[in-house]
Formats: sequence, structure tokens, C-alpha cells
Amino acid sequence: MSTVTQSNPFAPFSAKDLQEFEIWMNQDKGRSRFTEEKRAEYCDWVRNPHVKPAPGAEQKRLWNHKYDALSHYRVDGDGKLYRTSTAERDRGRSDRRVICESEIFGTIRDVHVELEHAGVNKVAAAIADRYHGIRKIEVEWLLKRCSTCPAERQNRSRAPLEPVMAAKSPPAERVQIERIIASRPLERVQIDLVDLRHEPDGYYHWILHITDHFSKFTSLFPLMTNISEEVARCMAQWIVLEKRCGKRRIGFEEVGFGFTTYCVGDEL
Ligand SMILES: [Zn+2]
Repeated sequence: MSTVTQSNPFAPFSAKDLQEFEIWMNQDKGRSRFTEEKRAEYCDWVRNPHVKPAPGAEQKRLWNHKYDALSHYRVDGDGKLYRTSTAERDRGRSDRRVICESEIFGTIRDVHVELEHAGVNKVAAAIADRYHGIRKIEVEWLLKRCSTCPAERQNRSRAPLEPVMAAKSPPAERVQIERIIASRPLERVQIDLVDLRHEPDGYYHWILHITDHFSKFTSLFPLMTNISEEVARCMAQWIVLEKRCGKRRIGFEEVGFGFTTYCVGDEL
């Protein structure tokens, strides 16, 4: 027997968010958006370029639509309307699918979830690359109401970095930390993982930040995950590339992650 699951079709937003979003958009009467009717009309002009608008009160507006449709739009094999890059402001862009106003909410939601609750800039840029008809201000309005993002941000937040060598004169109220002085390169290395899950670059969600305490030499590695095997692999690469590894023990300072002192010398 199957079980009926009650799910929110608007998640991570709500039906109220959609309702308020539509009210907010309707307040901006000056904004020319594609309705489903206008999009269908443009498709007709592109498919039937020799048809002339019928005489009447609407004739001038229809001529303008026809000129616009034939100049800057095309209909793909899938029957969808696409904005081409023929206009000056679209130069350099690929053709983008036209989104009508009833699809804006769902499109922003889908891209936001696809990008794992990325921020406004990342979502707006991805939308601008693929779609025509959605403004950044609309992305901004909606993402503020995401029910998942606050929890995601809380998960990602952590204490600021406290470099071991930076505590020359700590304030009295701060906890005294042990000062460790490195006397040669690779004696002590600090590693940190920068969390970019909210704004990933393709498959990469983390940046491995490595600093040698003695030389202050810093390197960055993009990572797809934060699992210890991937981090250790980059560490090994870093040491080999530096040609300074040898058979020596290296102490890694843990900075808020599950890495305690880790000896890679024996693996090289
Ligand atoms: Zn979100």
C-alpha cells in the first residue's frame, strides 16, 4: 500500500511567499514582462514572418511586437521562445529561454535549490546566463524568504581564524594561547578549509588554504569535498611540488576541523 506524503510544492518557500511575490511584482506596472499570451504571440510572429497585423486599434502595437520578435527572438525545435544576442545589450550572451511572469517564481526557486542555496549574485548570474525575463531584484526579493538558507548559514558559520603566531599581545580578557615558533620551513604548517558551499564554482565547494608558519608561504587548492582523503592528497601534492618534503614529520594545526596532528612524511 502506498503512503501519501504531504509535501510543500513551493519548498523551500511557501504558498504565502508566492502570493506576496505576485502582489509585489504587480505593483511594478511599468515593467514590461512576458505574459503567456505575449510569448505565444511572439512565437507566432517568428513562425509566420509574412503575416501582417490586422488593421485596428492594436495594429501599431502588434507591428512593434512583430518587429521585436523577428529582430531578437527565435523559436527552437522544442517549440520554446529564445532571446537571441542580436541586441547591443545582449552581445556575447548565448540564446536564453524566455520566461513569462507566471514562471519567474518557480525558475528562481529551481536554480536556487540546484545551486545548493547559493546567494543572490550566484543565482542571478546563473539565471541571466540561461533565461530572459527575470531581474536580479526579483531573485533578491525571493531568496530573502528561503526557509532553508538561515539554517544553512548557521551550519556554515564558525569561529574566526586565530593564527598561532598572531598572539603577541593578547587582550587580558582573551584566553592565553601557546606561542609556537617555527625554526625552519615545513616544520609547522597551518591548513584551513574555506567553505564555499553557498556559492560553489562548478563542482568545487571548498578551498584548501595552506600556510607554512616559517616562510608564511601560502597556497590554495580547490576541493570538491572536505573529506580527509582529498585534503591529504592536496597536501601531498603541495609538499612534492615544493620539493622540500624529505622524510620529516610535519605538524598540522587544526583550525576548526577534524584534522589533528597528521604525519604525512611517512607517506611520501
Ligand atoms: Zn535557500
